Amino acid sequence: MDFKDYITVIEDYPEKGIRFKDITTLMQNGPVYRQAIDNMIEFADKHDVDVIVGPEARGFVVGCPVAYAMEKAFVPIRKEGKLPRETITEDYGLEYGEASLSIHTDAIKPGQRVLITDDLLATGGTVKATVQLVEKLGGVVAGLAFFIELSYLDARNNKELNDYNVYSLVTFD
Ligand code: IMP
Repeated sequence: MDFKDYITVIEDYPEKGIRFKDITTLMQNGPVYRQAIDNMIEFADKHDVDVIVGPEARGFVVGCPVAYAMEKAFVPIRKEGKLPRETITEDYGLEYGEASLSIHTDAIKPGQRVLITDDLLATGGTVKATVQLVEKLGGVVAGLAFFIELSYLDARNNKELNDYNVYSLVTFD
């Protein structure tokens, strides 16, 4: 199956010059969405994963069904100020400005093996901040899994990510 056939590319959204990759059309097809999740699970199984971690909101769309099917925990990463209990926070750069992501401090136990999920790997800024949060809590990042990878940005070979196992269903170049 070519998952690319189910992803819609929207020109000039949310700003002129950006070609937005929309996974909602993939999610609208139940069997295709399920197959996408099954591929993620196959990758997770190879890397002996204890916990799934995903940044809001599309990281939940990928990570929660994986966690459910594997009977593993799911840990949400949210924008600063959204989680109700004690958190740690990581700042990271966006194309314009800065953002902060947080995780509950009790969400990961030292030594647990973590799969990080999101819909799309672009520059890698979001996943790098997520990796930092997991590692600060003593988690071991076992893999990074995405529906889509923008291969022309080559984030997987970036010096901060090239030690990790990266999996994506679809690449755009
Ligand atoms: P990065 O931090 O530059 O790797 O960007 C990845 C983050 O931005 C992910 O959390 C994505 O959900 C979001 N993102 C960036 N570009 C797109 C896109 O074209 N479609 C959907 N999400 C995107």
